[in-house]
Amino acid sequence: MAVLPRGSHTPHPRGLVRQKNYWDMSGEDVYELFYRARDREATRRPEAPSGKIVLRVLNEGSVKKVLHFDSPREWYVCDAAIVLCFDSRFDAGFSKFLKHLGVTTPDPIRIAGGAKALASPDRESDRAFVVEQIQKSANLHGTKRVILMLHSDCGAYGRLAKFKGDAAAEAAHHQRELHRAAEYLRAAIPGLEVEGYFVDFEGIWDAEVAVAEEARPAV
Ligand SMILES: [Zn+2]
Repeated sequence: MAVLPRGSHTPHPRGLVRQKNYWDMSGEDVYELFYRARDREATRRPEAPSGKIVLRVLNEGSVKKVLHFDSPREWYVCDAAIVLCFDSRFDAGFSKFLKHLGVTTPDPIRIAGGAKALASPDRESDRAFVVEQIQKSANLHGTKRVILMLHSDCGAYGRLAKFKGDAAAEAAHHQRELHRAAEYLRAAIPGLEVEGYFVDFEGIWDAEVAVAEEARPAV
């Protein structure tokens, strides 16, 4: 298999556009989850004077404080709602990718299958639920941008085995799914900026849902 140079956008046989391989970047903590990227200064835990976990009874009841942690109190504007699967294998790479996109205050909407709930939901109510979550993110945090994510070997799609181990067939299928999801979401909430990415074990691929929609002639 040919090795693409870093930053290459050479078209991939799968028909997707190869993104820069952010997994190769070093010098940063690759295990930092993306939802902790938000306002790192504000969320940084101050040095605990004793380093001990503090147990405390609340209001003389049975609720105990089991850990001291300072969280930011400031309200924020969300720079992207992220619809993604809860499969944690891709967190490190996807976190880096979000940073590259400039997403620092995301609203993650994390469900089995991610954007599958919009493209081919198990039940119609799943779609309504995700749309509602995005609408709430917009109402509460002013969200205008939505990033849809699907990944390889996703259990919600029957894993790679469902595609008989054919990664190219899986990628092509998921690209169509991302287009379907983007189309549905745009119709449900007009005015959103929607992007779609497929994540596999080698990197992150742009499904180009934005390009396809913009290129579509007006009806
Ligand atoms: Zn999954």
